[in-house]
Amino acid sequence: MRVLARLVPALALVAAAPAATPPPPRGFFPDAAVEQQKVEREFRAIPDPAVARENMRRLSAVPHHLGSPGGRDNAEYIRTRFKMYGLDARVETFDVLFPTPKERVVELVEPVKFRAALAEPVLRDDPTSNQTALQLPTYNAYSVDGDVTAPLVYVNFGVPDDYEKLERLGVDVKGKIVIARYGGGWRGIKPKVAAEKGAVGCIIYSDPKDDGYFEGETYPKGPFRPDQGVQRGSVADMPVYSGDPLTPGVGATKDARRLERSEAKTITKIPVLPISYGDAKPLLAALEGPVAPESWRGALPITYRVGPGPAKVHLKLTFDWKLVPANDVVAIIPGSTWPDEWIVRGNHHDAWVNGAEDPISGLVAMLEEARAYGMLLEKGWRPKRTIVLCAWDGEEQGLLGSTEWAETHAEELRTKGVAYINTDGNDRGFFNAGGSHTLEPLVSTSLTEVEDPEKKISVLSRAKLKQIADADKPEDKQKARDRAALLRIEALGSGSDFTPFLQHIGMASLNLGFAGESDGGIYHSIYDDFTWYTRFSDTDFTYARALAQSAGTMTLRLANADILPLDFSTAAEAIARYVKEVGDLADTKRRENEETNRQLDENLPWAVADPKKPFVAPKRETPVPHFDFSPLQNASDALTVAAAAYTKAFDAAFAAGAPPIDAQRQKALNAVLRDFERSLTSEKGLPGRPWYRHLVYAPGAYTGYGVKTLPAVREALEQKRWDDVNPAAAETAAAIEKAAAEVREATKLLGS
Ligand SMILES: [Zn+2]
Repeated sequence: MRVLARLVPALALVAAAPAATPPPPRGFFPDAAVEQQKVEREFRAIPDPAVARENMRRLSAVPHHLGSPGGRDNAEYIRTRFKMYGLDARVETFDVLFPTPKERVVELVEPVKFRAALAEPVLRDDPTSNQTALQLPTYNAYSVDGDVTAPLVYVNFGVPDDYEKLERLGVDVKGKIVIARYGGGWRGIKPKVAAEKGAVGCIIYSDPKDDGYFEGETYPKGPFRPDQGVQRGSVADMPVYSGDPLTPGVGATKDARRLERSEAKTITKIPVLPISYGDAKPLLAALEGPVAPESWRGALPITYRVGPGPAKVHLKLTFDWKLVPANDVVAIIPGSTWPDEWIVRGNHHDAWVNGAEDPISGLVAMLEEARAYGMLLEKGWRPKRTIVLCAWDGEEQGLLGSTEWAETHAEELRTKGVAYINTDGNDRGFFNAGGSHTLEPLVSTSLTEVEDPEKKISVLSRAKLKQIADADKPEDKQKARDRAALLRIEALGSGSDFTPFLQHIGMASLNLGFAGESDGGIYHSIYDDFTWYTRFSDTDFTYARALAQSAGTMTLRLANADILPLDFSTAAEAIARYVKEVGDLADTKRRENEETNRQLDENLPWAVADPKKPFVAPKRETPVPHFDFSPLQNASDALTVAAAAYTKAFDAAFAAGAPPIDAQRQKALNAVLRDFERSLTSEKGLPGRPWYRHLVYAPGAYTGYGVKTLPAVREALEQKRWDDVNPAAAETAAAIEKAAAEVREATKLLGS
């Protein structure tokens, strides 16, 4: 803490503007630091909101999903831009499985007849909403084909907790079609859990409480989801592996060995389709049975009931299962000094439909970074490390373009990959960063250099103050404040293209963007377009500029630093926090189970239940054993000690008059630093999902996007696999020990 606080000594949280004399960037020797600051200043002056706006208009002009003419055309446009900027760019193509709907039917057959429209209306106020022939229909990619008719059950978000509540209500979904609302976890979890519980079909709808009229005025009057608006999206079981369902672990090249579709673990077991709240209302209104628990009720003007029935639904889906080309656009700026150390920067270019917000708002920032690099190159500047700029295809279907590229180049990335910086949709508001905690100081110090377009204070100051404002308890607010100049970055689960780099390859990664002041309800609909974006989000594209300045500054520092600006104290701090959390989780589970059993002994559940309402008593729980977390605690302590020693040696190496570190030693040291993140991965991967190798960060098997830190340990506890806890703790501890050894090695290289 004390050491961290020294990183940016001059920063006052309420500073009126970015500091006049910014601290030297981390990891640069004095001469290089002066040069770096000059290059950065030039770089940050280049990104231009007008260019970002024009690129968005062009790139969102027509639907441009995976495999579409618009997508192909956009890839070509991006390649041409990169070339125009003087960068060496090409399109790298993979062949990926991409089902599109042939037939979609949702109808209520009992007690009354109703057929769902399954279409988003053209709006006169929205000039691209009428490109119907080019738009993908509303559907969930990687739903299996199916034709089922069954009574309906409302399952709230459709996550495991919801099914426990249903059990208490005496409701079983076996043989039923479930209807779940969006939210509460990643959409792909809903059909996965429904199938595990025996359901035969799954419908997902957008409740107005989530992003419709409950939140604000609906589109086109306001930004929120209209009556017939639908959220498309992938339902592949991404927590098992991301990318093409037919080629797990290998690039989907022309001659790759492909699974049969029936063998692909990430395709759903039951048919699933998303619908609007306009279409959902008659289905939900026809349900009887128990009134839904209060927290399950949305904002439709009905009494939410659980069912089953008498509503009976017919769900029929057939798809055209074809291979389509995924076109990644890759530009390379070769490094002058260490060409075999790569900084990879990416944003996807494909969308579900026109996708102005998701993903073009992030892509236009990356294109401005590319243009700025081009201008610097023209003046003779070269990065010391290689910068690889990637515009990914097929992100929306399950990170296809990025995953297939990372798998194809896995060997190279494992030896050359230093860091991956991702962006995706960008909006107005506060800077958010997720990622590897070794990069926390890099993120914060870079953000002192960028001005918030609205408040004219530094992006860091605004983001920090927002974190303090958002912390629940006064002590948490104080904790956020105590971290002085450091913005806390969140651990990453999944949901964008960082996943293959961070969790499969083991590269230090970041996911960056502004958000918080332009909510809406157009996500994955035909209304996510230029009209919506320029009316309701970053309307003057100043946040596109700020994102380019932020991500670009971080990229430039990683590319040019003499010693990579990774910090291990911040990583050790995060890991220590996670170790404490899993220990606390075990204790909480133990107390909860004891309490449940005590209540059963007292006959409490029966006594307090209303006899006129359905009631099923909870099952008796097995007592939670005591676990051995000492290997984890020892490893975490070892890392903390090693990190403190490294920070001390690092500060000494950059102190005035310190002896220089020769090129040979720099190279060796940087290699060790780069390997830190990799040492937190395991060759055999996580239990049941070997594609995921990171032992500190993973998407939850039952949360999807939501992160599970120390996943092997935490998920064994959450899933009550008690026998797996100690081995998982030992394995995770061994990786942390290995990481601590890397840090000690790095300290040695710094100090000698
Ligand atoms: Zn996206």
